[in-house]
Amino acid sequence: MSFDRSQPRCSFCGRRPPEVGRMVAGPGAAYICDACLELCNDIMHDTAPFSAKALELASRPPVVIAAPQGLAGEASESELPRPRAPWRTVNVELEQKQQGMLLLLHKIQFFEGYFEIDYLWMRPPLTAGFAFVPRIIFFVKDNTGMQWNGDRGGMLLARPDLASDPNHAVYQGSARFRPLPSNDARLLTIRAADPLGQFEDIPPHPWQFEVTI
Ligand SMILES: [Zn+2]
Repeated sequence: MSFDRSQPRCSFCGRRPPEVGRMVAGPGAAYICDACLELCNDIMHDTAPFSAKALELASRPPVVIAAPQGLAGEASESELPRPRAPWRTVNVELEQKQQGMLLLLHKIQFFEGYFEIDYLWMRPPLTAGFAFVPRIIFFVKDNTGMQWNGDRGGMLLARPDLASDPNHAVYQGSARFRPLPSNDARLLTIRAADPLGQFEDIPPHPWQFEVTI
């Protein structure tokens, strides 16, 4: 999937080229501006593991990146690099609780060249003023020994409509992996971790699921 690179925004602060000095382009739709690079440099040189500057950066709301080309309604079907509908869907519906947080794997969808795991993440609401919505980090392995780390990026949506308990917030996300598993793949071992867990005294156990595909 290609992104509209003609309208870059800094992935860390959301500012566009006229508002920044320099912008460095990364993979996909990732960019970083000179001011955010400088801030990252300060954080790198700070000996405190969770400094005020690091917290400030991590607490920023996620930047909405430019829409993938072809989804804006301008490109014709033939210009789309991939079909929008999966050619196969495996309904998983497995849930597991770790560290007071529930991860529900909803389904795995197979597209041309990649697959996606759709999930719901139920966790205590983040404290007031802490707007950072962290993504879950996935590690996937199949029975043939092939391994995947999820692509960076991806969408994470707050779903207050699904939260029945005021002590829990619900986030809906999908993680994308490429390439596709081989034809010999029968079983996926899916491990998932909360990236913020590394800052806790006792690192949380990763979630782990076995899914037959
Ligand atoms: Zn920036």
